[in-house]
Amino acid sequence: MVRHSSRIELKQSAYKSNINFIRKKIGEKPILSSVVKANAYGHGIESFVPMAEKCGINHFCVASSFEAEQVLRVCKKESHVVIMGIIYQEDIPWAIENDIGFFVYNYDRLPVALEAAKKVGKPARVHVEVETGANRTGMHEKEFPKALTFLKKNTECIYFEGLCTHFGGAESIANQFKIDMQHKRYKAALKICKEKNILPELRHIACSAAALAMKDTVYDMVRIGVAQYGFWPSPDVYFAHLHETNKKSDTSLKRIFSWKTDVMDIRKVDQGEFIGYGTAFQATQPMTVAVLPLGYSNGYPRALSNRGQVLIKGKKAPIVGLINMNLFMVDITHIPEVKVGDEVVLIGRQNNSVINVSSFTNVTQLLNNEMLSRLPAAIPRTVVR
Ligand SMILES: *Cc1c(COP(=O)(O)O)cnc(C)c1O
Repeated sequence: MVRHSSRIELKQSAYKSNINFIRKKIGEKPILSSVVKANAYGHGIESFVPMAEKCGINHFCVASSFEAEQVLRVCKKESHVVIMGIIYQEDIPWAIENDIGFFVYNYDRLPVALEAAKKVGKPARVHVEVETGANRTGMHEKEFPKALTFLKKNTECIYFEGLCTHFGGAESIANQFKIDMQHKRYKAALKICKEKNILPELRHIACSAAALAMKDTVYDMVRIGVAQYGFWPSPDVYFAHLHETNKKSDTSLKRIFSWKTDVMDIRKVDQGEFIGYGTAFQATQPMTVAVLPLGYSNGYPRALSNRGQVLIKGKKAPIVGLINMNLFMVDITHIPEVKVGDEVVLIGRQNNSVINVSSFTNVTQLLNNEMLSRLPAAIPRTVVR
């Protein structure tokens, strides 16, 4: 098999430590569902899911049937998959057949699920998502009692697996009043379930930020995305944690991701010469430059032209000139020992130096999640200890 121009490594020991940390926060009982939408936030579903399973995870949430199928291809038979977002009507029988749970946010979905379940001969696993104030997806409170009546009438064919909602912005203290309101409305929905005597198996509302910072939002399951990948959801959540634990800093959450390539070529550039396209960079002195075999088409942000850095031999090498479609150049005048084929770290650690995702995103104004989730699926991902 020929090689790709870059590679991503996932560190299993770091993941295990993240899971231990989150587990301590939420307690032993709740299910820790790993949110692996967007190709596991760019980490790569195919490698990530089996690694998570090795660390004791057996529940996965995704955003679409397409992603559910990706998980199904690599997960263990006994693992659970829930679709939180789009599932087209024609895919519902497939989901039921494969024991995949799915969010229902419109009453009209229920009779469709019922018909499909009858045809397949297996119950549909339904998670009713209630509207609480994010006004994204979520069943309106007017439809909710009717939905419960329907569920109660059809328990043979529709399994009421979950009652859930999603917070719009739990990572920010400024949104606290809104989150409190959403939680209150969720509790009201739960109360209606009790009154109608039809209870969900799993109550779940917490994302990473809520699970880490708001203990009372942890019910039977939590849906953890960003934190399991080793990122604090926000400074607010991080500082709340420091305050709670009376610490000055905490490295419990560890990045599991690193992105690497190799030096493709090395060249000398005379003073006064321009490097790459246009006149973006002119050598003000004789320079040594390393050519790297990837560019913006491989997910490396063009906004880092003349600004970003990579690590070679444990030292920072600044980008010179524009990021091209599949090449860019870095200055290695100060690292004369570099050879063609040497490892280059684009994101991650090398010796005692580190390049964080945030050093990218500070420049590009991308969210960490956005930067990671956009990394092309074609980049190979491997798991390392
Ligand atoms: C993405 C998502 C999550 C996970 O959010 P994080 O902040 O990454 O933990 C949970 N629930 C739903 C519905 C989501 O879309």
